[in-house]
Amino acid sequence: MNTGELLREISITFPPVEKPDGLAILFHKDECFQCEYLREDLSEFDGPVLPAKAIRTIYQEMSCLSAQGWRWVLPSYLTHCVSEETVYDGIETEFLIYNLGPKQQFQDKTLERLSALNSHQIGCLMHFLEWCSAHEHWAAYCAEDIERALSFLRTVKNDAAARD
Ligand SMILES: [Zn+2]
Repeated sequence: MNTGELLREISITFPPVEKPDGLAILFHKDECFQCEYLREDLSEFDGPVLPAKAIRTIYQEMSCLSAQGWRWVLPSYLTHCVSEETVYDGIETEFLIYNLGPKQQFQDKTLERLSALNSHQIGCLMHFLEWCSAHEHWAAYCAEDIERALSFLRTVKNDAAARD
């Protein structure tokens, strides 16, 4: 799948959604300072489409977002990664790859964060990872992480298909 095809698939399977209200965006709803800080940092971003500055705020804190939060962020985040033309500035892509391929002990929580996505959206995330695995920089830099994420998402996709 080339970049243009992937961008089209993202725009079709991940239509932008409204920002979830208040605490609904957060993975921990009470007494978690890290989540609360993120909510404050994101308060200036209200719309369904997030600018690059918002992705920069989020990429290290994806574990602070709930399933609804992920659903809100991913349309803009994925588009950002795939549209990004310079490898130099690809740190958001790198972290998304890590977030999609959690180590065993973090898999349950990751499943929870992916639980608001349908099977087409999980399939699109897999196409994103396949695109990374064919990308000059990402293929050389984190092939193992991409593979781990792909095999994790294969099981997630089966679960999502059963839910759809
Ligand atoms: Zn938290």
